[in-house]
Amino acid sequence: MDTLGYFRDIVTTGRRAEELAAFDGKVVGTFCNFVPEELILAAGAVPVRLCAGDHGAAGEAETFLPRDLCSVVKSTAGLVQRADGLYGRADLLVMPTPCDGKKKLAGLLSSFKPVHILDLPSRKDAPGAKHFWLEQIKALQATLEKLTGQAVTRAGLRAAIELLNRRNEVFRRLHALRRRQPPPYSGEDALFIAQASFSDDVPRWIEHAEALCDELEKATPAANDGPRLLLTGAPIVHPNHKIIGLLEAAGAQVVADEMCSGGQRLYQPAVLRDWSMRAMIEAVAEKVMLPTTCPCFVDGVDRVNRILELAEQFQVDGVVYHSLRLCPLFEIESFGIGRELKERGLPMLTLNTDFSAEDTGQLRTRIAAFVEMVGA
Ligand code: SF4
Ligand code: SF4
Repeated sequence: MDTLGYFRDIVTTGRRAEELAAFDGKVVGTFCNFVPEELILAAGAVPVRLCAGDHGAAGEAETFLPRDLCSVVKSTAGLVQRADGLYGRADLLVMPTPCDGKKKLAGLLSSFKPVHILDLPSRKDAPGAKHFWLEQIKALQATLEKLTGQAVTRAGLRAAIELLNRRNEVFRRLHALRRRQPPPYSGEDALFIAQASFSDDVPRWIEHAEALCDELEKATPAANDGPRLLLTGAPIVHPNHKIIGLLEAAGAQVVADEMCSGGQRLYQPAVLRDWSMRAMIEAVAEKVMLPTTCPCFVDGVDRVNRILELAEQFQVDGVVYHSLRLCPLFEIESFGIGRELKERGLPMLTLNTDFSAEDTGQLRTRIAAFVEMVGA
């Protein structure tokens, strides 16, 4: 298998589910970047991020959920109910509460599996938010220790932080390669690389990512004069790669993304003041909270700033905003972001869609027009 194909294989096949079916320890399913994987590893369990992009499962969930819910909530509920693969294997689900849909989903899923709810503050800088979040992280630590029967020790947590910071370092090497013109790998490949880390064994992911860096740093890709685009907005998760597939098929080069299912997931390291237990817990809590641009917080300034920073670093010609139908957070935020970017001369296309393929033709037409416009 070629080096890039490894990541695609982890995401698109049942390989990881088979490996974990034979593993006799605990597996912890998480639903977004707010869950510090360091704590799960330090408690002796395996983290798997279970964010869903499966349209079929979303349809199945409509037998016990309202139809007018976002695809993420329906798809997740459908997959947990199906209980196959990693969804069946997870011993515990850790569910942050960014929106009403996820809150109610946490309650619903607790009839299938044990669920630990991770409450989020409504603003990162609200009075008491830091203390509140630390208490949430400590409560998660207690749940994990109870699940595995293994205490999170200083040595264990330090090893987990060092391991995930190594993953972050190699990810940044790969990420930097996308600044080249043309970049040596596609935007969809970038999503496969990031999404393989959702479930893969961490040392093995690092080993393959290092080999890929070594290979791509020497590569000379074929010339490509398609416009350079940045993708932001709601997470795009396999198998719903519809938008990115259409953008690249239209001739665009997706050279950066600003999504929690892509670059945002692996970019930030844990920053330590020292190696005391307290400093390590604070570092993993801050790592998942401070740099996030999730629209669940009142203020959307962080996302605009991050988009502008990436747009400059990666020399992008335009931005595509993926808005998930029936998700008020992403839909509302898209207006302000589009306005801010326009003022700075950066065109933005908003695509409001869901996991179904019904709107593919219409999306293709709009994307072709945008790619032509920014390319000119
Ligand atoms: S958009 Fe926010 S809540 Fe949704 S998965 Fe990403 S980080 Fe989590
Ligand atoms: S897409 Fe929006 S509504 Fe759906 S779960 Fe994520 S934040 Fe909630």
